Amino acid sequence: MKTSEVRAAYLEFFAGKAHEIVASDSLVPEDDPTVLFTPAGMNQFKDQFLGRSLTFRRAVSCQKCFRADDIDEVGQTPCHHSFFEMLGNFSFGDYFKKEAIEWAWEFLVGRLKLDEAKLYVSVYEDDAESYGHWRNLVGLPADRIYKLGEHDNFWPADAPTRSPQGMLCGPCTEIFYDMGPQPQCPDPAKCDITCDCKRYVEIWNLVLQQFEKGGEPGELHPLSMQNIDTGMGLERTAAVMQGVASDFEIDVLAPIVAAVVEVLDVRYDPKKLDAHRGVRRIADFVRAVSFLITDGVLPSNEGRGYVERRLIRRAMLDGLDLGAEEPFLYGVVPVVGEMMKDVYPEVAERRENIARIIKSEEERFQATLANGSRLLEELVSAVREKGLSVLPGEEAFRLYDTYGLPIELTEELLSARGLSTDREGFEREMERQRAQARGASAMSSEVFDSGPLATVRDSAEPTVFRGYQSAACQANVQAVIVEDQVVDAAEAGDAVTLVLDETVFYGESGGQMGDTGTITGSNGVVEVLDTQRSQGYFLHLGKVKEGRVESGRQVRCEVDAVRRRAIGRAHTGTHLLHHALRTVLGRHVEQAGSLVAPDRLRFDFSHFQAVTADELERIEELVNGYVLGGADVTVEEMPIAKAKELGAMALFGEKYGEVVRVVRIGDYSIELCGGTHLDQVAEVGAFRIVSESSIAAGTRRIEAVTGSEALEHGRRRESVLDQVAQVLGCDASRAAERAEKLVSETRELKAEIRKLKKQGAGESADDIVGGAVDAAGVKVIAHRSDAKMNELRELCDVVKRKLGSGVVVLASDAGGKVSLVVGVTRDLTAQLNAGKIVKDVASVVGGGGGGRPDMAQAGGKDVTKIGEALDSVPGVVSSYLAASG
Ligand code: ATP
Ligand code: MG
Repeated sequence: MKTSEVRAAYLEFFAGKAHEIVASDSLVPEDDPTVLFTPAGMNQFKDQFLGRSLTFRRAVSCQKCFRADDIDEVGQTPCHHSFFEMLGNFSFGDYFKKEAIEWAWEFLVGRLKLDEAKLYVSVYEDDAESYGHWRNLVGLPADRIYKLGEHDNFWPADAPTRSPQGMLCGPCTEIFYDMGPQPQCPDPAKCDITCDCKRYVEIWNLVLQQFEKGGEPGELHPLSMQNIDTGMGLERTAAVMQGVASDFEIDVLAPIVAAVVEVLDVRYDPKKLDAHRGVRRIADFVRAVSFLITDGVLPSNEGRGYVERRLIRRAMLDGLDLGAEEPFLYGVVPVVGEMMKDVYPEVAERRENIARIIKSEEERFQATLANGSRLLEELVSAVREKGLSVLPGEEAFRLYDTYGLPIELTEELLSARGLSTDREGFEREMERQRAQARGASAMSSEVFDSGPLATVRDSAEPTVFRGYQSAACQANVQAVIVEDQVVDAAEAGDAVTLVLDETVFYGESGGQMGDTGTITGSNGVVEVLDTQRSQGYFLHLGKVKEGRVESGRQVRCEVDAVRRRAIGRAHTGTHLLHHALRTVLGRHVEQAGSLVAPDRLRFDFSHFQAVTADELERIEELVNGYVLGGADVTVEEMPIAKAKELGAMALFGEKYGEVVRVVRIGDYSIELCGGTHLDQVAEVGAFRIVSESSIAAGTRRIEAVTGSEALEHGRRRESVLDQVAQVLGCDASRAAERAEKLVSETRELKAEIRKLKKQGAGESADDIVGGAVDAAGVKVIAHRSDAKMNELRELCDVVKRKLGSGVVVLASDAGGKVSLVVGVTRDLTAQLNAGKIVKDVASVVGGGGGGRPDMAQAGGKDVTKIGEALDSVPGVVSSYLAASG
């Protein structure tokens, strides 16, 4: 049975049991920040499991899956892939354990005709019901049913103890197939389904959603709506059906493996599962990357793109090990397309594009490796010179950080040279860098760690932020810092940093700039110029404007509300832009960075090519459409689990706390965000894109303005137009037309001038020819012109042609120097050489030159002798003629 037949049989079987056939979701789940990639068939049905949007109660699907967690297993086991397909049948509050178990058995034994004797199952130790169904309904002997604990047979595995409240969970029951004894089995006598040797391969997992997690560890409440969620590995089942020992030998994977073997020209024995791991890994990763690219993931340094980049790099390093010197992965793409095209034609359709992306990534990494290896060689000699045998961790880290050389590769390259790497030191550096990145609000956190704020931190509590609700509040001064010293008071004119117990000033974070405003005490005023935050403390950076400010005193904080509103416009505008970008350009668009300033914003995002003018126009139009639509902006704090359930967009790789702030716009935009926003999108007023550019490979930047800046932007452009119209002497509405006309007129005039010039040259050529004299029977022209050197040459050609036979010498004094050109017509070059003539003539004006027998040129210094030089020409020609006999 072919893989495609297994897939079809499954869908058909469950469709026959009233299941709706649902197409695979993208590998990149829409608006589900809980996962980077779709890991299972159930993910697209989260709403249905919660009883929402139920248009059917039974579904069946074949889902494209990607599991970054399994990457390390790939090639190591016969049955783990990064990308794979998962078959699944689902019940949303409809059938439960009995049918799920009964039908699974019916499909395996009745439809696929698997040998019953090779099937084993596991159940959750407390799930007597499922055990009963396997024993009594299916009739499975007790020794083929394993009762296992929550680690193996509860989903999610840590649900009873650690999952958040409200999480749906339940026991599961898994079905295994006996692939026969494995040579690598640690203990064949004791081998069973729990053994690591993969003799018993898990082909199907039936999750029985029965509970909802309560607040306490171990607290589970029975669900009124019980669900079934199953997942069956397509490749694993195909391997069983095709009687092969490993997934890599099935009909759709073997040709990809073969293609890798062919491009690398290596030996490969599919039966040797303990060898040639690299070949299998390359095949698996190329397939995965092809599918990821198809679903909009492009190689990058962050999030999904980084996972993809690592797959490509790992596969390249495998290739390097196997002797590949040139990019080769991209060459496998067409085979992937061919193998998968029955159900996923998109890979084959986009194969050139996919191959191009992979190839350029391969070339980049190749360059990286070349640079890194060169540096590595230098380091090796340095280490040896010092008589050491270990490369210091910092150096290994530099190779990784600056040159992208993976630590594993560094280790490999070094050990080939008899040296080793200080791995611990490397990890330390790595951790240091992570820590640095975490304390990203760098300026202030540094102050905290060493400077005066280290003291403040000991005595003062973190600042409570009240700025979401209001623009003013009372507060107590916890610390006054002047010139890096904690002081009791600051005086008028001092640059000061204030730490308060409460504040309404937003401290810069998440791209949003800090607030400005005033802090007023009973005997002084501080103008706040910026607000930063560090580890929970808000730092008000400013200047004492009047009087003094003292530690321990009460003050009143007042934010510059006009500026705050302008920032709000830009921030809400940023969320609108993000949504519009994903709508127009696609789901691969992910925020890579942003700056939110008063009525001005910058948004960096992943996208592989320049955004076209058309797209920009549509994006801007969409955003202004949202603004006109006038939706409410609502903000709510909730547990992260709930936010994820709602599909809030989050920044991947960002750490969020247990409780998060969710900003929603109408029913279309929902993001985790700590910034200050408007209450109504209409207040954005207007939105204009100012520029679009590239900031790194695969990352674009859009700058835009909102509110008064957007109006100002329009006004500025209008005034430029008015000026242009004025210069053109017409109405602004006709400026383009008029300018166009002027440009084309100018073009015509230039052409005309060129023509006239040529004609002019032609006319004077006639005059020049008229001045020919005779020298020993040869026509000789010696003429003074005003032309420059290159024009002289052209003129010389024209004159020569008109003359028919003879010698032409032209001279001019362009820029205080003499230019000389000598031409000899072809018929005379046997007797006369232009190169020799030019030398003789040039010697009169104190210069030299040379050239071909028919055309030569020279320069000279003495312009006063041009006449004399020209006069010498007939004599020079005559003497050469005489010499040639
Ligand atoms: P395993 O323990 O073998 O890694 P799992 O417990 O992680 O499997 P589930 O999360 O229950 O698997 O997924 C359901 C089914 O999907 C599995 O029974 C298996 O057939 C298949 N599957 C899971 N992970 C992979 C993978 N990395 N490659 C191929 N198939 C997989
Ligand atoms: Mg697994």
